[in-house]
Amino acid sequence: MKISGWGNYPCIDSEVISTNQIYYLQDIIRKKQSFIPSGLLRSYSDSSLNSTTLSSLKLNRILSFDNINQAITCESGISFQDLNNFLIPKGFFVPVTPGTKFITLGGAIASDVHGKNHHKVGTFGNFVQSIRLILASGEIIDCSRNYNQDIFKATISGMGLTGFILDATFRVQKIKSTNFSVITKKANSLEEMLELFNEYMYYDYSVAWMDTSEFGKSLGRGVLILGKELEDNSFELLPNTKLNMSFMFPNFALNHITIKLFNSLYNSISYKKNDFIANFDKFYYPLDILSNWNKIYGKNGFVQYQFVVPREHSYKTIKNIMQIMKSYKQSSFLTVLKFFGKSNDFYLSFPEEGFTLAMDFPIRINTFDMLNKMDDVILSNNGKLYLTKDARMSKEFFESTYSNLNKFREIKSIIDPNNKFSSLQSKRLGI
Ligand SMILES: Cc1cc2nc3c(=O)[nH]c(=O)nc-3n(C[C@H](O)[C@H](O)[C@H](O)COP(=O)(O)OP(=O)(O)OC[C@H]3O[C@@H](n4cnc5c(N)ncnc54)[C@H](O)[C@@H]3O)c2cc1C
Repeated sequence: MKISGWGNYPCIDSEVISTNQIYYLQDIIRKKQSFIPSGLLRSYSDSSLNSTTLSSLKLNRILSFDNINQAITCESGISFQDLNNFLIPKGFFVPVTPGTKFITLGGAIASDVHGKNHHKVGTFGNFVQSIRLILASGEIIDCSRNYNQDIFKATISGMGLTGFILDATFRVQKIKSTNFSVITKKANSLEEMLELFNEYMYYDYSVAWMDTSEFGKSLGRGVLILGKELEDNSFELLPNTKLNMSFMFPNFALNHITIKLFNSLYNSISYKKNDFIANFDKFYYPLDILSNWNKIYGKNGFVQYQFVVPREHSYKTIKNIMQIMKSYKQSSFLTVLKFFGKSNDFYLSFPEEGFTLAMDFPIRINTFDMLNKMDDVILSNNGKLYLTKDARMSKEFFESTYSNLNKFREIKSIIDPNNKFSSLQSKRLGI
């Protein structure tokens, strides 16, 4: 069948194998030459693509829950939506969540995902206690901080390249409410935006929407959104109200002018109230309300370019990136800025202390050329790109920016000497 990541680029034919029979999965892994595990395919491009894909979606059970020690063990194909539906009535929540609940536990571990609270708690991987993994030999092993530690550090953030995650145990957070007290702060320029982040760093959750269609004095204007969990003992699961984008937009629908219009409109009407209460679903997952919103970008698809740079290089890097965008007459439809706290020791983990900017670009003739120019800026400012969003970085760029790559390669060569676990991305990057 045809499959693709969230950016609808590239789109390939793949034999998708989906089973809850572990012995069958082991047999496939022993016999086949090349495959990659997959979850809900919310990575943006080719991280979970191969001519054979091992889907985790039928392995989706909760195996145990210990409310005293705040630990849960689940199979890797469970979604964050199902996890939270189970946890919330008991007064718990996943400790870290990305901007969509339509991801699996396996995907969260393999990408070592981050949320709006990274500056306080780090990535999802920080909460994982142990993992059960099928290796390329078909053998099932356990790994944790105390046992097979190198495999553990390579698997969290390892993009499915160390083995198939069967199940994992992780710590959950106790919550006092599913409601958030939210405040918003408008920034009229990039300087103001970075200052606001610094000033409000004590908030548990922070994220900013940025208008990338404005240059000159207003370059970097946008809205910083800050959240704190309430303590009102309300644990409400909202009914699933979703709008569905059932058709692809034509490729020309999103252009420089329509994106500018959208950004200006958003800037003037968004967050009229700067102090309100939001349910967790609206706070964490505003985009999930419109399923298949990726179809807005048309058949050619889109790429997300997410980089992180150290705090001291943030201002000039973001300014240079925006200038490159302007020179190519491109704008990002949706642009999100966050601040990351300390990095961790998982070998291919993305977050480093500093600012991270994520931008979405429809694929056009000059898009990749523009992104190559942006890479030069990121490289010279000690930055890096997020693997789970990447569609096109070069092997050389990747090797110069991921400092623990050799440690990862060492483990990989021991546990998967024939590179059976491989994706289009890992082949492109020579991982
Ligand atoms: C709207 C949107 C918002 C997002 N926001 C954020 C965000 O705020 N922060 C963030 O960090 N990410 C974010 N992401 C990215 C997303 O969280 C990651 O790409 C996540 O890995 C997707 O999970 P998935 O189940 O869809 O995995 P897939 O996309 O199917 O796979 C992703 C990777 O995980 C591996 N994998 C999946 N299952 C297994 C398994 N069982 N065993 C071993 N490896 C496995 C795959 O091989 C692949 O390399 C966002 C994505 C979208 C679409």
